[in-house]
Amino acid sequence: MTNSPMKNDLVCLTLAEAKVGLHQKKFSAVELTKAYLQAMEQHRSLNAYILETPELALESAKKSDERLAKGEGRELEGIPLAIKDLFCTEGIQTTAGSHILEGFKPAYESTVSANLKNAGAVCLGKTNMDEFAMGSANITSYYGNVINPWKRADGKDLTPGGSSGGSASAVARGLAVAATGTDTGGSIRQPAAFSGIVGVKPTYGRCSRWGVVAFASSLDQAGPMTRDVRDAALMLEVMAGYDPKDSTSAPVDVPSFEMAMTQGVKGLRVGIPKEYRLEGMHEDLVALWERGTQWLKEAGAEIVDISLPHTKYSLPTYYVLAPAEASSNLARYDGVRYGLRVPGKTLDELYENTRSDGFGVEVQRRILIGTYVLSAGYYDAYYLKAQRVRKLIAQDFEVAFQKVDVILTPTTPTAAFALDEKPTDPVVMYLNDVLTVPANLAGLPAISIPAGLSKEGLPLGLQLIGPAFDENVLFRAGRVLEENASFKPILER
Ligand code: GLN
Repeated sequence: MTNSPMKNDLVCLTLAEAKVGLHQKKFSAVELTKAYLQAMEQHRSLNAYILETPELALESAKKSDERLAKGEGRELEGIPLAIKDLFCTEGIQTTAGSHILEGFKPAYESTVSANLKNAGAVCLGKTNMDEFAMGSANITSYYGNVINPWKRADGKDLTPGGSSGGSASAVARGLAVAATGTDTGGSIRQPAAFSGIVGVKPTYGRCSRWGVVAFASSLDQAGPMTRDVRDAALMLEVMAGYDPKDSTSAPVDVPSFEMAMTQGVKGLRVGIPKEYRLEGMHEDLVALWERGTQWLKEAGAEIVDISLPHTKYSLPTYYVLAPAEASSNLARYDGVRYGLRVPGKTLDELYENTRSDGFGVEVQRRILIGTYVLSAGYYDAYYLKAQRVRKLIAQDFEVAFQKVDVILTPTTPTAAFALDEKPTDPVVMYLNDVLTVPANLAGLPAISIPAGLSKEGLPLGLQLIGPAFDENVLFRAGRVLEENASFKPILER
């Protein structure tokens, strides 16, 4: 079909709709891919991609069309996706948003991106992100900040959130059908909330971390960022699964999340944790949280007040443990084995020069904090204590999940902020993660659903947290929230 009147709308289709269109031959994978490549070109000013790979995308779309013609289409055949630049992609530059990895072309493919490609997905390119996934506003990327396609009435450029800001902006603006993200403390859910899309952080161990550049290994999880709940279910079904190459990957079956999604919430017990009602939480979010509670109740859920008493320690615990693990993981970037090398007179000087030039300010801050809390004199006082508190936080959830099936909270304390109003104090920036880090510390699955608008007309997200390996409950309750919210994405405005 050429000159199709739908052409301009191709980038508005959800993954599920695009799949139907491809199978019914309403358009080809090449046409769909071309529509995305065109949109990417038109919206380069958002800086959502670090690297676009149009030739490879068209080549793989062509192959998809051949398979589709033969009726051999796989789950994601011909679907154009974006991959966060933290996932190693074979022969394709992978930078983790850092200068130190500029020009690095991995010799292998991450399991998650391989799963997507093996299901027929077309890779459009690598999305921008905070350097080594450290950040909440996508302003620490060496490749420049990403801009949120949403605008406030004053017209100022807003952050799409971080660290998966490029993926969020791309999916929201129609520069990819869906994208991968990673979430160590909120990096899928917070940008999803700020950009009006769906984001899932699966249970720790659900998706393989093999080939994902490590930030904090005990917290990192890959997950989907999509236009709606069904798309997230479809993506996660392909991304997830046991991988013998990752020792922390869980040997559990991947259910049909799409099927779970249709089951409704009748009889489900939904917990509302009082500790998440933060001082300073924006009133629009407080109101939205109440509305969300009401929607679930009207759909047949039982609402239960719960307490997660150690919540207030989550953020300090995270900001001890995540930098500790990061400082160890980032030790490998020494100027000898990967990417950037800045020579020096001695080997030590080469290390120093490379790491000083190659790492940005935020990454250096984390390395300093991390090495400090791991140092012999402070290990017990900080690292060990944080490990113990982490256990208490996880236990809070274990107790809560004896009484409830799922927990409902807002995703963030505020809507997206303007890039020129960003907090200059790093600790204020860290507060963005206050509602998302507990799920990472406890290894639990969580989803963010675009559920309403702030008074300034910006997207707000509601978060659902489930028991380990029960992503099903997130899709069930998430779908009900989505139906009630009937949120209109920026693409349709
Ligand atoms: N914003 C958090 C941080 O800066 C979380 C990042 C993430 O989830 N990757 O560490």
